[in-house]
Amino acid sequence: MKNFNRILVANRGEIAIRVMKTCREMGIESVCLYTEEERELPHSSYGDISVALGGGPLSETYLNIDKLVQICKDYKVDAVHPGYGLLSERAAFANALEKAGITLIGPPAAAMEAMGDKKRSKQICEEAGIPLVPGYHGENQEADFLFERAKEIGLPVLIKASAGGGGKGMRIVEKEEDFLDALGAAKREAMNAFGDDIVLLEKFIVNPRHIEVQVMSDEHGNHFHFFERECSIQRRYQKIVEESPAPGMEDQLRHDICAVATKISESINYVGAVTVEFILDEDGSFYFLEMNTRLQVEHPVTEMVTGADLVRLQIEVAQGKKLSFKQSDIEQRGHSIEVRIYAEDPDNDFMPSIGKLLFVGESQLNSVRLDTGYRNGNEVTVSFDPMLAKLIVHAENRDHAIEKMLQALKDYPFLGLVTNRDYLSRILKSKPYKEGPTYTHFVKTYKDILMPTEISEEMKAMVFATYQLCDGRGAKTHTSAPAAIEGPWESLSGMRNS
Ligand code: ADP
Ligand code: ADP
Ligand code: MG
Repeated sequence: MKNFNRILVANRGEIAIRVMKTCREMGIESVCLYTEEERELPHSSYGDISVALGGGPLSETYLNIDKLVQICKDYKVDAVHPGYGLLSERAAFANALEKAGITLIGPPAAAMEAMGDKKRSKQICEEAGIPLVPGYHGENQEADFLFERAKEIGLPVLIKASAGGGGKGMRIVEKEEDFLDALGAAKREAMNAFGDDIVLLEKFIVNPRHIEVQVMSDEHGNHFHFFERECSIQRRYQKIVEESPAPGMEDQLRHDICAVATKISESINYVGAVTVEFILDEDGSFYFLEMNTRLQVEHPVTEMVTGADLVRLQIEVAQGKKLSFKQSDIEQRGHSIEVRIYAEDPDNDFMPSIGKLLFVGESQLNSVRLDTGYRNGNEVTVSFDPMLAKLIVHAENRDHAIEKMLQALKDYPFLGLVTNRDYLSRILKSKPYKEGPTYTHFVKTYKDILMPTEISEEMKAMVFATYQLCDGRGAKTHTSAPAAIEGPWESLSGMRNS
């Protein structure tokens, strides 16, 4: 068994802090990283050792493999936790670490290479007899050939970047005449985001739910699932509300979908944490979507309902330990919901916003977890992902979890920036959400009922404070507030929810 004295967290923000918390609990030292512009952010000083990455584009900081390997050597780290995004699914990073004799807290490079790529992972699942969304995931990338396949599959089809993630490089095509343009756009976006423009085609499922299963495997051949997460509420194909258990899911279906996920992990002798994503169709059939060979953004809801610390398990598995429990020991208790608080404007096509975060807030509620990489006074810039925080609650059932989340969202107002906080509240208050189940077109379908209807108390307080500060001469914010205002309430119509 490997002994870890020191771990480098090759990531930033909330996930870097999340990983370092567990390191602390396990008595393992952590090394954290920060760039020039991140000096004030909490993750830059959370570790036992902080190392400056300098400035410049991501390719010179968090994505610079040589630099990170050198830091590992300089600071004598035993292992690296890559978090999610950034280098977490780059086989080249896994290989470079292996060469340097440093353990990656993640799967072997080969598994990452095979499963991190949507096309290859589908080929592998097909061989293992796992149901796939009807589509094309072969080698031929000629436009005319792909067009023929799309017509065979039947429109609407989804064009997807094979290397894709975070919803990038995806295009839906509803009409034949749009296919070639959409293909070009998807390929360009994929090349920009992932340096690879291979695409695959899938039948677009019209009324689907996104259900995924958390699996953890060790090198002794054990593969356990930690049940499902429902992540159907998305914008731009990216999740904003996640929960576990999936509302209204019957036990038999839950059992079947979890068994398939475990089977996939088994069939490739996977080691580490992995999420198997499925699309669940209205008739109860489910199809393999992709595998994420890393810790997932929404892993906390699984931790809340199962009581497991997934990062601890990842570390133990990387040390070579055997997972010393049985599948029947893992239970789903109560209900957990996570919302992603973004610096973005839902009333303006989810456009990212920037500015100074004045006040995060705090909550005294039980079983509420805020995972964030920001604190009062921090600047939020365009350099990084606009996710400000994840707010997670746990309660005995879904109704109580919804009530608790609505209160928790009030406790954390995230003032100073345009955020999606009020929008998230509106989702949780809405009838279709409360009734469940939810579908991936939720945001689009219920656009009208998710529009702002009331002005929040925090909003009123902020406008009033701004008005006082400005001597009534007008508020200067990055929102579309009028330059001169008569009184605080007159300006409300021109301001967006902060
Ligand atoms: P999850 O799949 O864990 O729910 P997302 O799909 O939202 O999370 O992605 C998590 C983060 O990682 C996002 O910031 C996203 O942009 C980024 N990301 C995901 N996959 C990749 C990838 N293959 N390459 C680069 N960044 C990625
Ligand atoms: P990413 O790597 O960007 O997460 P996924 O393949 O996981 O890509 O798809 C992201 C989201 O896009 C899914 O959660 C789902 O909402 C939607 N989606 C993906 N494939 C399909 C499909 N065939 N039909 C309908 N929606 C889909
Ligand atoms: Mg996905």
